Amino acid sequence: MTVRTRFAPSPTGYMHIGNLRTALYEYLIARHYGGQFVLRIEDTDQARFVEGAVDVIYKTLAMCGLDYDEGPDKDGGYGPYIQSQRKGIYLEYAKQLVELGGAYYCFCSKERLEEIHAKAQEAGEVCSYDGACRDLPKEEVQRRLDNGESYVIRQRMPKEGTSTYTDLVYGEINVDHATLEDQILIKSDGLPTYNFANVIDDHLMNITHIVRGCEYLSSTPKYNLLYDSFGWDRPQYIHLPLIMKEGGGKLSKRDGDASFEDFYEKGFLPEAIINFVALLGWSEGGEKEIYSLDDLIKAFSPEGINNSPAVFDVTKLRWMNGEYIKALSPEKFHELALPRYEKCLTRNLNLERLSSLLQTRVSTINEIDELVDFLENTLEYDVSMYEHKKMKTNLENSLDALKRLYPVLEAMESWTEEAIHENVFKLIEEMGVKNGIIFWPMRTALSGKQSTPGGAIEIAYILGKEETLRRINEGIAKLS
Ligand code: GLU
Repeated sequence: MTVRTRFAPSPTGYMHIGNLRTALYEYLIARHYGGQFVLRIEDTDQARFVEGAVDVIYKTLAMCGLDYDEGPDKDGGYGPYIQSQRKGIYLEYAKQLVELGGAYYCFCSKERLEEIHAKAQEAGEVCSYDGACRDLPKEEVQRRLDNGESYVIRQRMPKEGTSTYTDLVYGEINVDHATLEDQILIKSDGLPTYNFANVIDDHLMNITHIVRGCEYLSSTPKYNLLYDSFGWDRPQYIHLPLIMKEGGGKLSKRDGDASFEDFYEKGFLPEAIINFVALLGWSEGGEKEIYSLDDLIKAFSPEGINNSPAVFDVTKLRWMNGEYIKALSPEKFHELALPRYEKCLTRNLNLERLSSLLQTRVSTINEIDELVDFLENTLEYDVSMYEHKKMKTNLENSLDALKRLYPVLEAMESWTEEAIHENVFKLIEEMGVKNGIIFWPMRTALSGKQSTPGGAIEIAYILGKEETLRRINEGIAKLS
């Protein structure tokens, strides 16, 4: 049997972290077992249609390297892969199911259903269809259909007994049939409900493993009854645990911690997000935490999925992202950093060198902004910054240091890091002072900051000679 998995998102306009994890696990199972990974767009709920939402799905999968073998733009012989383009298929199957005894036509009016609903509410009971049309005589059904009466098709649930299935993560799940409502499969507009369409599609697309959130655990017995009524083989089920925020609660769109796009916008790399998401509920056992997609394909198996809620630990994601940033080639990091520089730096600076200093210091690409702003702006810092106990600097010796430094730098012809280094150390030697006596005031004058990417020499080099001299002059003025 060829393993076939599918990612079946409803186009919402963003990729929720939970959905991304579903897609990833489906992808990994397919790749691990040498099977196929299918993308199917579940857009039966046209009321919730969001413009451009399908493109978000394509784009995110592409950015994360989750290439699918079949999908709307990649026909593999099981298409169409967009549910709204499969409309005709579902009604045919629903009618077949009626013939097989697994479903029935229901002509109950909206008013009648509302009445049942109101009564149930009054009695404090769960509203459930009362089965009025369950056993209508065949002839009556035919007559009403011929009359063009509006109808839905409902699933005929067994009244007695229990359904059992084994979920690969949650183990054996049992449900009493008495608790299952005769749910609608085909709505009065002839379109399928999600509950029906997904079963038909999964079967017709030969899907063998279904991965989805645990909110579907309790609906699955209904799906299984559909498979059984049709006489089809049931697939394997892999339901995934909830993803919780640290301290509890769901990830939320409002807090900007719910979707792939949220994190991408904040400067996280897709590779790091994928690695992190893979570990939300799955573990190989052992200490390893950094996994490339290829590593994951090799290591992944459904047995490693845990059924207790996974906690979304942002600190860990930051750490992981920092590791991925460090592992980038210098060229790639520079390419990612450039748009950040363009946002806040207009000066002529040595940006390549800046990138090489930043690459080991940032844990997200966006952190670059606050680390480089001083290169652009006129510095606003308090003169007391020159006083540093450990460096043994005070206002007086700082002024002296800057005054001695200025002509040394001014006289330099070639502005390289080596040359700056050589000249500053020569001065230190001449003055017979500790390094900090020069370097602290120099770095303060150049940055106005307690902490900077790189030391005084690197900053001077990046700023260029002219701006370095200007800032030292400003420091002298401040201290005088
Ligand atoms: N369209 C469903 C969703 O986005 C998919 C559920 C499933 O995978 O069966 O939640």
